[in-house]
Amino acid sequence: MENCIEIKQLSKQYQNSTDYSLKQVSFTVQKGDKFGIFGPNGAGKTTLISIMTGVLKASQGDVNYLVNDQKELLKNRLYNIGYVPQDFSFFEELSPTQNLKYFGALYNIPPPSLKEKIEDLLSVLGLSHVAHKKANTFSGGMKRRLNLAIAIINNPEVLFLDEPTVGVDVQSKNAIMTYLEQLNKQGTTIIYTSHHMNEAQDFCNTILLLDEGQKIACAPIHNLLAEHHEDRLENLFLKLTGTAYRD
Ligand code: ADP
Repeated sequence: MENCIEIKQLSKQYQNSTDYSLKQVSFTVQKGDKFGIFGPNGAGKTTLISIMTGVLKASQGDVNYLVNDQKELLKNRLYNIGYVPQDFSFFEELSPTQNLKYFGALYNIPPPSLKEKIEDLLSVLGLSHVAHKKANTFSGGMKRRLNLAIAIINNPEVLFLDEPTVGVDVQSKNAIMTYLEQLNKQGTTIIYTSHHMNEAQDFCNTILLLDEGQKIACAPIHNLLAEHHEDRLENLFLKLTGTAYRD
């Protein structure tokens, strides 16, 4: 297995905050991983993903993307990652086609290949029939699928998803997870967070468990379940993080 991202001693203290939201977290993501980041509310999942994608700056520590040419690191990072945030990150007043043309142009994708890519994505994510309708008329599931399409317009090597199936129906959830499996088989490394433990258990090969900003565990899911004599991720999660409310 080839290392893809190394996280070293990452800490984050937000301005005006007395506590650290991430406390010296270290782990490695391998190329081709389906890597799940889990933890109760407030554990630091969004903070971690935001730092890994460059949206936020860490207070201490490093995120190293292991690309061949270190000089190209910044450019590579921007061009080679995709990020599906929790919030919808598209123009509601525009159609899927207009949104994808806009975001594709930001990556300098030449118009003929962009047109083809847009048609492919809309088709595979079941949005062809609304390709020219304003996104503000869409259901939650359609908006989630559009959010995903935008994040992968640049064929990223690493795709980050922050709760990609929150608030969607079973059909959209199935379409999203099936498509993520397909992308992963084609070589995309996937890093994702979810509160759906059954979905996560089916999907992930490796998990990182955070609680109150600290790493509780990071290992292949089967090893972790075996080590703790559990067969369900949900039970393991409760065993390691407790049953008390966190919000
Ligand atoms: P999770 O995604 O696991 O629910 P977050 O990364 O959103 O956790 O939050 C981790 C901690 O950081 C929480 O205690 C939260 O209140 C705090 N936090 C998140 N964003 C900010 C911010 N912008 N300013 C101050 N504190 C924040």
